[in-house]
Amino acid sequence: MAAGAGQGETMALAGPHSAKATSANPPQRLTVLGATGSIGASTLDLVARSGSAFEVFAVTAHANVEALAACARSCGAERAVIGDATLYKALKDALSGTSIAAAAGEEALIEAASVPVDCTIAAIVGAAGLKPALAAVRTGRRLGLANKECLVSAGDVFMREVARAGCELIPVDSEHSAAFQVLKDAAPESIERIVLTASGGPFRDWPIERIAIASRADALNHPNWSMGSKISVDSATMMNKGLELIEALHLFPVATHQLGMLVHPQSIVHCLVSFVDGSVLAQMAEPDMRTPIALALSWPQRMAAPTKRLDLAEIAQLTFQAADEVRFPAIRIARAAMERGGTAPAVLNAANEIAVAAFLDGRLRVPDIAVMVEETLGMADREGLLAEAVGLEAIISCDQEARRLCREIVAGRT
Ligand code: NAD
Ligand code: MG
Repeated sequence: MAAGAGQGETMALAGPHSAKATSANPPQRLTVLGATGSIGASTLDLVARSGSAFEVFAVTAHANVEALAACARSCGAERAVIGDATLYKALKDALSGTSIAAAAGEEALIEAASVPVDCTIAAIVGAAGLKPALAAVRTGRRLGLANKECLVSAGDVFMREVARAGCELIPVDSEHSAAFQVLKDAAPESIERIVLTASGGPFRDWPIERIAIASRADALNHPNWSMGSKISVDSATMMNKGLELIEALHLFPVATHQLGMLVHPQSIVHCLVSFVDGSVLAQMAEPDMRTPIALALSWPQRMAAPTKRLDLAEIAQLTFQAADEVRFPAIRIARAAMERGGTAPAVLNAANEIAVAAFLDGRLRVPDIAVMVEETLGMADREGLLAEAVGLEAIISCDQEARRLCREIVAGRT
């Protein structure tokens, strides 16, 4: 099951009626890794609305100093950390007149993440978030994990550290938050299948010829969710759902053949779990990430989230259809990497990050992304890179090598 040890020790977390911290119910200390992004902003929105229930220790960002300084000031963080080491002075200047401590560079990110707080929200995008998220895991406290690439790339190592440190891991990805809630006390042998739903993204009903000439703006135009650019492109190619299958494999006690996906355009049902007795349990909510983030902040209690309430009469119809692996080959490629296991998912993830960045830079078309990822996996296989995933260092060097291979393949293509 997703949570590590210590789940029962979290009863003191702010509940729905405890917006004011009291001596019996002190504020929960929080670190937000990737605070300037979409998940980071949603997290800090919930924090701002919850009175004194939370106090922010650290906020981090990659390179946007102004956005980081603004968010550190507005949430009253103790520390702001910018990933780009060259931006230390700019951050210090932007924080002048406040008592917020400034820090910069990858080591500073890891150091901030390793300071024990009640809860860390891991919302950096990509494998760049792996070391900071692991540092938070090692504190043995609660981790709300949005940064799915950590589990795709290094799931075995990550989950071993979660168990070793007694970290309480709560998934933030909406489908996994749904499964987490549904599976709460389920015995592993009672679970038959976990089906993640997918909106189908902006190209859900587009013919293959039209997807081939889709623009950057088309790919970023997600119908249901407002998200960062990388995950928006992943949703457009449906690689996102492939990554999520791998994420689910590490979070829940199931084998690859027990994981499936279903296109559900309304994004109301987030996950369906079938049990051996024929029951299927699902979780529903309007598509707003503040619902799963609120769960990660307050579980096993529930805190208020200002989201639109679900009105099924208004929605009237919930529809489901099989995913089309011809128009969305990323699903097939990700599933194959999941079944292969070892370092294959790390290569898949690294190549996808490079290909998505090349697409966002205008160097690739949408269908090229899956082609680049598959070619990188093929080349990695021929070079003997698809080994058993042993330790963190081996995975990181495999990730680096896959990025180099994919850059070469992209350069040859463009
Ligand atoms: P985003 O692009 O909006 O924000 C990313 C954050 O990470 C920013 O604060 C950025 O400064 C920081 N960052 C980027 N590169 C970094 C680096 N190299 N080093 C340090 N920090 C870096 O992304 P997002 O949409 O908020 O997504 C964050 C994560 O959550 C992703 O893994 C995504 O797959 C996952 N997720 C997002 C959503 C969503 O609705 N946005 C839903 C489910 C899961
Ligand atoms: Mg998701």
